[in-house]
Amino acid sequence: MLLGCIADDFTGATDLANTLVKEGMHVVQSIGVPATKGGMGDVDAVVVALKSRTTPAAEAVADSLAALEWLKAEGARQFLFKYCSTFDSTDAGNIGPVSDALMDALGAEIVVACPAFPVNGRTIYKGHLFVGDVLLNECGMESHPLTPMTDANLVRVLGRQTRRPVGLVPWGAVAKGADAIRATLAELAGKGARHAIVDAVADADLRAIGEAAADHKLISGGSGIALGLPENFRRQGLLGSRPAPSLPTVGGRAVVIAGSCSNMTRAQVARAEKIWPTRVVDPRELAAGHGVVEDTLAWAAGLDGKTPVLIYSSADPAAVRGVQDELGRESAGAMIEHAMGRIAKGLLDQGVGRLVVAGGETSGAVVNALGIYALRIGPEIDPGVPWTDAVGGAVGGKPLALALKSGNFGGEDFFEKALGMLA
Ligand code: ADP
Repeated sequence: MLLGCIADDFTGATDLANTLVKEGMHVVQSIGVPATKGGMGDVDAVVVALKSRTTPAAEAVADSLAALEWLKAEGARQFLFKYCSTFDSTDAGNIGPVSDALMDALGAEIVVACPAFPVNGRTIYKGHLFVGDVLLNECGMESHPLTPMTDANLVRVLGRQTRRPVGLVPWGAVAKGADAIRATLAELAGKGARHAIVDAVADADLRAIGEAAADHKLISGGSGIALGLPENFRRQGLLGSRPAPSLPTVGGRAVVIAGSCSNMTRAQVARAEKIWPTRVVDPRELAAGHGVVEDTLAWAAGLDGKTPVLIYSSADPAAVRGVQDELGRESAGAMIEHAMGRIAKGLLDQGVGRLVVAGGETSGAVVNALGIYALRIGPEIDPGVPWTDAVGGAVGGKPLALALKSGNFGGEDFFEKALGMLA
């Protein structure tokens, strides 16, 4: 293994893994810190997906250090701490405390911090993070329920999360290329800085930063910061030109499970229900104990299995509010997620081999219910969403092709497109 990555949430981990695959690596994403040594096969990078974005800082640090230990034991040469491209965090952490702990464990002198992701409109100039045309604190993130971002100056934001000095590599140096970036980092380190926010407004900047950090044990940023890293290993003769990972070759029935209520998922559902047998999971019937899971599975078992099947709970905002008022926001969500997990497990037992799940939390519930502990990352379906091969758990010896997308990802034809790729 060349690159060991620690991601602070699940869909962010997939996004990073997908970027590394596009840059020519073979990648596995593990769900949490793997319980066993090895078992990931012939891979260039492993991305350990944690849930450490909003947990208490001490917990995030402990989980991240456990992930680091596992990656080190597997022989990773360089380490990447991946967080959101909107720098989602609070003054209590967790980007600062986790970076500090990883830096100490690896003996790193100074750590690049660069969440820029220009293709998604996240750019950094003079240390300020822009989302599209506006500053981070004007893009809606200022009212995020868990990590409100009210300051766009990342030098200040990170400075509140760590006692260690934070410096800036300005765009003037970045634009001159890797040597100038390296020189500026050395200068900052000479003045005592331990963290360096690095400006970046284009992919070329991220590639230059990656090149400049070739000798750094630890790098941190969004998935964009990974763009230049595979090339470093290639230059050193450590990463051969590999054939792109192939699509999962899995037969069996195809099912789409949608638990996201986002606009895009609802559009995807509206399109798919016109062409495929469809079943709605109704939260009120679930709450009333009407055997919804059993009925849904019996319905699916009675179909011919030739066409894909759609099972969804997705509803518009007014309907969701109504359900939440009646059942409580958290408990309604958890109840539906649990049901979707049980449905997925039952479908697997019926011989489903290809499964698409819409919704971040819904995906987490399905993966848990199936006991899957890792995903081998395959080709991309739509930006940020790859096909994967599930590893372990209830899948047992049976292969399962899995596409997990967060609510707003993918085009309207995502479900057809995804399953069409495997046909
Ligand atoms: P996204 O990626 O769009 O955020 P998630 O799966 O993460 O999607 O979150 C959607 C949440 O909404 C889940 O907790 C899910 O159980 C819940 N949910 C799904 N359908 C309904 C519904 N009809 N009413 C209320 N909540 C719902």
